[in-house]
Amino acid sequence: MAGIKSETLFRDSKKIMPGGVNSPVRAFQAVHQNPVFIEKAKGSKIYDVDGNEYIDYVCSWGPGILGHANGRVIDAVKEACNNGLTFGAPTEKELLLAKLIQEFIPSMEMLRLVNSGTEAVMGAVRAARGYTGRDKIIKFKGCYHGHSDGLLVKAGSGALTQSVPDSLGVPQGYTESTLAAEYNNIASVNKLFEIYGSQIAAVITEPVAANMGVVPPVPGFLKGLRDITARYNSLLIFDEVITGFRLASGGAQEYFGIVPDITVLGKIAGGGMPLAAYGGRKDIMEVVAPLGGVYQAGTLSGNPVATTAGIETLKILKENPGIYRQIEENTIKLKEAAIEAFGNSVCINQAGSLMSIFFTKEKVTDYETAVSSDTEKYAKYFSFMLKNGIYIAPSQFEAMFISAAHTDKDIEKTCNIIKQAAAF
Ligand SMILES: *Cc1c(COP(=O)(O)O)cnc(C)c1O
Repeated sequence: MAGIKSETLFRDSKKIMPGGVNSPVRAFQAVHQNPVFIEKAKGSKIYDVDGNEYIDYVCSWGPGILGHANGRVIDAVKEACNNGLTFGAPTEKELLLAKLIQEFIPSMEMLRLVNSGTEAVMGAVRAARGYTGRDKIIKFKGCYHGHSDGLLVKAGSGALTQSVPDSLGVPQGYTESTLAAEYNNIASVNKLFEIYGSQIAAVITEPVAANMGVVPPVPGFLKGLRDITARYNSLLIFDEVITGFRLASGGAQEYFGIVPDITVLGKIAGGGMPLAAYGGRKDIMEVVAPLGGVYQAGTLSGNPVATTAGIETLKILKENPGIYRQIEENTIKLKEAAIEAFGNSVCINQAGSLMSIFFTKEKVTDYETAVSSDTEKYAKYFSFMLKNGIYIAPSQFEAMFISAAHTDKDIEKTCNIIKQAAAF
């Protein structure tokens, strides 16, 4: 239950912003309650305007791998601010960040900085189309790639039917070139290639799906995508907006040992500021303007404040590679507590520091199985956790994010409350 001040702010916000929010999931609709309004956050904790403290497992939906308000990042950003917020001209910071990103993810031989994951995916897809001279792309049901028109697609029954927009306001024509396949089902991809092979510019996927809850790739799936795209001279795009710098320092491509042609980054890349990137093989990225004919631009792209937050965050990750083992081990502790508590009445998926508890007895491997979850049970679980000081995603179909700021004490407390929630 949100407190008085949150309730008042929400009531007033609803009068001036759609649903009272600037991104839909924040409205807590899926868990049938009003949102808590956040005042501040530090380390593993987040504080609402009503004076409640929570252990935060949303971490701003992924960027917060170091926890909130890391001292080094904040100091660097303050200093950057004093020198001006934006110039619209090249800076050394952009070069420093690009080099750091490339050090982590060497397949990004050339890259471009932008402001959001949505924008980065748009750029990546346009570059893939420009490079191949083909129009069609394949995306997977349940994967999210931002809110650009062509990617807001729901597959019809059977992946071979024409894709229909998943949002009002998207003309049918905008999604005609988007083919939808089933995640973790290489046969559904092969089928589309058999029919449209020479017209497919790219396959785009989240290497670990994390926007229908966490759904890791089954063995051979990513390799299958790599092989078939290579066979048809089409490109493989990994949307690593969540997995980049999280699954491993080199993202999912390092974790699974499968290298895409183009990589999309966001979230952690900006250390909490609006920043994202796309990049890949040099010969592909050379199609991007002003070098090539694929247009893409941005007034605030690579601005000195966001790049500073990104640089400092990546530097800390580089200096502390042990973070990855720590956050994965803590996630496994939470997973084990949940298994102990819920037994086989739930399906728990985990990859690195990403985890989801699905309230279903089915093994969740794709969109169909993900939506078999009992979202009402999730809503109850969410309320219990929030009431007990644990802030998790207000939707079954989002990931739990574990950060380096979560202490042993935080994890222990959370494990205990998970156990109580199961008994409740
Ligand atoms: C969050 C997300 C995006 C969109 O990023 P925004 O910065 O919200 O536009 C794209 N792809 C994936 C996998 C994401 O998780």
